[in-house]
Parts: sequence; structure tokens; C-alpha cells
Amino acid sequence: MSFTVAIDGPAAAGKGTISRAVAAHFAFGHLDTGLLYRAVGAHTLDGTPAVEAAQALVAEDLESDALRTPAVAQAASKVAAIPQVRAALIDFQRAFARRAGGAVLDGRDIGTVICPEAEVKLYVTASAEVRAERRYLELEAKGLLVSREQVLADVRERDARDMGRSDAPLKPAEDAVIIDTSDMSIEAAVARAVAVIEARRD
Ligand code: C5P
Repeated sequence: MSFTVAIDGPAAAGKGTISRAVAAHFAFGHLDTGLLYRAVGAHTLDGTPAVEAAQALVAEDLESDALRTPAVAQAASKVAAIPQVRAALIDFQRAFARRAGGAVLDGRDIGTVICPEAEVKLYVTASAEVRAERRYLELEAKGLLVSREQVLADVRERDARDMGRSDAPLKPAEDAVIIDTSDMSIEAAVARAVAVIEARRD
């Protein structure tokens, strides 16, 4: 039987951590849909046209560590505004969502466009300053040299592009449960997500 959990929200709000924890807790499959757009973005940095890259995407493209850089994140949010790129990635995401045994998908448009019928929809958010600080610490731990100001500017630029685009803009689904992690520990945020899902499963 399928059971879909859609988790949307802006960059560095805690979606990824919550999604992985929830998937492990319920033994559901997990798809980080941002990786699809990052992989397409990475191909464009190598010179491949975006739509061509999206149509030719294969699973191995999602495994590269090089997808986690700020340059790829910006390229991802640019290709994500192209309707033909989004269209090329829909079937794969919907098939994953309906896999037997349950699925968690995290992204920007899962509850609104990809899986409007998802059994659970969460919108995980936090202030831009809190998200930028988290992203800064992550990048610093990886040894990437960036300034706090640059990370905050990147977060704001990506938010504006993701929320302002006309195709599948980032916004909470009408029936999404909002989890604001600005003043929440990650444990508390995961516990809240698990509780919402458990309530829907009963
Ligand atoms: O979540 P992540 O930061 O990896 O996403 C990278 C970019 O991919 C986002 O800024 C957004 O533009 C795009 N994206 C999207 N729809 C999704 C997931 C990611 O447009 N479902």
C-alpha cells in the first residue's frame, strides 16, 4: 500500500534532516527532489542545455558529492524556473511517491504540484537569518570558504527565485501543517513531524 509524505519549504529550513529521520522512523523510501534540479543545474555548468539535461537524467547523476556546492544550488534554482525542466522530472517523482511501503519526498512543490493527494503535507520553514547561519556552518564544516553575508544573500536570492517563479512557486499547500524550526531543536521538529504522520496513519 502506498502512503505519501510531502515535505516542502525553503533552503536550509531542516526539510532534509526531518525527511531522512521520518523515512527511517517509518521505514519509508526517501527522495530528496532538490537533487534532481541540482543534477540538471550541474550539467548546465558543464555546458549542457537545461531541458536536454533534464530529459537525459539518470539515477547515477544524483549520487555525486559535487551537487552540494553553492554554485550548483544557484544553478539548480535557475533551471527549476524552466517549465520544460520541471515537466521532464514529474513522472519519476510521482512513481516514487506511489511506491509500495510508503514514501517521503522533500522539495518545493511536492504538496502543491507533484503529490496534491499526499496523505501528509508538511511545510518546514525558518527565518532567512536562522537558515543562512545553519547553511554557513554546514559549508564551513565541509571546508568551503564563504562569508556569512554571502550565504545570507544566496539564501535570499534563492528564496526570491523559488517563491517568485510562475511555474510551481514555493508556497505551502492549503492543507499543509506548518513547522517553523527557527526556535526549535531538530529533535523537537522531527518529533512534531512524526506525530503529524502518526495521527494521519491511524
Ligand atoms: O532543496 P535544494 O536546496 O537541494 O534544491 C535546490 C533547488 O532546486 C531549489 O532552490 C529549487 O529552485 C529547486 N527545487 C525545486 N523543486 C523541488 C526541489 C528543488 O524547484 N521540488
